[in-house]
Amino acid sequence: MNPFDLTGRVAIVTGGNGGIGLGMATGLINAGATVVLAGRNAAKGKAAAKELGERASFATADVTQKEACDKLVRATTRKHGRLDIMICNAGIGIRKQPQDYALEEWNAVIATNLTSAFLCCQAAYPAFLKSGGGKIVTIGSVMTLMAAPHTAPYAASKGGIVQFTRALATAWAKDNIQANSILPGWIDTDMTQAARSQVAGLNDNVMTRTPAGRWGVPADLAGLAVFLCAPASDFVTGTAIPCDGGYTIRG
Ligand code: NDP
Repeated sequence: MNPFDLTGRVAIVTGGNGGIGLGMATGLINAGATVVLAGRNAAKGKAAAKELGERASFATADVTQKEACDKLVRATTRKHGRLDIMICNAGIGIRKQPQDYALEEWNAVIATNLTSAFLCCQAAYPAFLKSGGGKIVTIGSVMTLMAAPHTAPYAASKGGIVQFTRALATAWAKDNIQANSILPGWIDTDMTQAARSQVAGLNDNVMTRTPAGRWGVPADLAGLAVFLCAPASDFVTGTAIPCDGGYTIRG
């Protein structure tokens, strides 16, 4: 048996229509899985699914909404007969000093980055029970471990999602469900293109501080995602694994 084979497994990747989500979805497809990319931007999602081939499809879902998450899981199990993997990757950032956030901005970041994972995992749980188990992967950040002046709600959400994931790992281990987090470093995506223009010196910081000496690319996350979704990780749960070119271990 190949412990990294995902043939016959069905996955949902939130925010899978671009960036890191698409990088991980590509890894799952290449390992044999059937993948539903979930997001709001249907044009981007349909194009991404077409690129990935016949085992990929796109479903429109705003994962801040409970009904949308329930519908996403229902539609996936109806179409593919089962659900084995939930990757909670959708995320946004709003960069300001703590004193400048409006409550709506704080709530938007927490809803998208943290509450969405609660809604998606709660929706997935009954389907996982029917499948005899499941794999949950949530996406933290360098900002799970570190902090910066312009990241108050983002860092709070990324710290919270790891603790949420650990709670799931303890609660659902008895159901053969493993829940782990990936902590990406600085990855070149739409999100960080925006950050580069808003945070002075970011590019220089990333290039000099990252021992690997480069920005990550979405494909860098594919292998870790496959590992955490495959039988290879059946005794791995509640962990939070950095994938950051060494950024967070540099003193
Ligand atoms: P992108 O902006 O490229 O992707 C974010 C994705 O989230 C988009 O596909 C977007 O889809 C989706 N999304 C946002 N809001 C919602 C919503 N309400 N409902 C459904 N989907 C939504 O950013 P990245 O790929 O960089 O980020 C992916 C994840 O990785 C995020 O959680 C981010 O915090 C995290 N991360 C990124 C790092 C980096 O350096 N890039 C570093 C550490 C963590 P749509 O366009 O359809 O709304």
